[in-house]
Amino acid sequence: MNLLMEKYTHQPNFKANSIKIRFGTHDNIGSGPISLPTVELHTTGTWFAFNAPNDWTESKLTDAMTGTAYAIQSFIPLFVRCDRTDIHVMPQVKAVHTEKPTFFIYDSYPGGIGLSEKLYKQWDELLEKAAEHVANCYCDVGCPVCIGAQESSESNVKEEVISLLRALTDGGS
Ligand SMILES: [Zn+2]
Repeated sequence: MNLLMEKYTHQPNFKANSIKIRFGTHDNIGSGPISLPTVELHTTGTWFAFNAPNDWTESKLTDAMTGTAYAIQSFIPLFVRCDRTDIHVMPQVKAVHTEKPTFFIYDSYPGGIGLSEKLYKQWDELLEKAAEHVANCYCDVGCPVCIGAQESSESNVKEEVISLLRALTDGGS
């Protein structure tokens, strides 16, 4: 589903925590909550919601969506001729607006500058090109060129990103 929002407010509803580490050795010497102000930006955006693949766990979906958002954001400047920082791609495993896994793209400027409005019409092409780019990358498990730096994990996040992107280009919901 492709929809254009008139206004989008990003209000992170998570609790941030800090970790204190020892300079030099990186030993963990304590942690605690941080109180951060809500970030509010009235801008324009578009979103793409879909049904999660049936047998995927939430953590697998989170990893795949994070890598996919990175890949999408890398490609957007080629579609609408902007700087990478002019737009923001945010994945949410269960978005409040759609109650589904959703990718949001919004302009990084108050009021919006028309970038996400252009992208609203190009979601399919954007997802296809991102899938192609990730699949053709020379790395094995993901790298900063395709899906961002990956911590070593048991699963191959790159394969998960490719399979998610291919599923999405066969039609979101
Ligand atoms: Zn790569």
